[in-house]
Amino acid sequence: MLMKISRLQKMDKALLVNWEKKSRERQKLYKQVLAQSAKAKLYNDLPAYHEEAFEQIDCLQCAACCKNYSPRFKTTDIKRIAKKLRLKESVFIDNYLRLDEDGDYVVKSTPCPFLESDHRCGIYDDRPSDCARFPYTDEDVLVKRPQLTLKNSSFCPAVYYVLEKMIANK
Ligand code: SF4
Ligand code: SF4
Repeated sequence: MLMKISRLQKMDKALLVNWEKKSRERQKLYKQVLAQSAKAKLYNDLPAYHEEAFEQIDCLQCAACCKNYSPRFKTTDIKRIAKKLRLKESVFIDNYLRLDEDGDYVVKSTPCPFLESDHRCGIYDDRPSDCARFPYTDEDVLVKRPQLTLKNSSFCPAVYYVLEKMIANK
């Protein structure tokens, strides 16, 4: 049993070697698997894939999402974070946010201004709900928004990992 577990862990770790290249090469396959997946089985399996991914991937060693992309700051996020920072909401918006082409508030520039040098989030307990939910690997958003999932699989190893598990177990 012990040997079996260590072999499995080795195999799954091997999945992450050169993952960016593999993800680039398998985008078509990911698109197919997202379109064809048996939803009931997938939703049942997703929590285990998600947990397994984050047992092996340390976000503090990565921070690719916070370095390169912005979450949406919804009204409730803005109220909560401005309060935490003891700023008026208008001042918080002026200091940190801009409206994007979809009319959503996003950070003025990346990396996110709340990302600290050790890759921790300076407003972790009050971070936007998009940040708390990202990368959606335990949510049906993963299959309901395939374009988003494909994009995320190009920079988030956890999304890549979960897609590979879906392929291996379909
Ligand atoms: S890109 Fe994915 S693995 Fe990297 S920090 Fe963000 S959620 Fe974690
Ligand atoms: S608010 Fe925190 S978790 Fe969200 S992008 Fe910025 S640093 Fe990352």
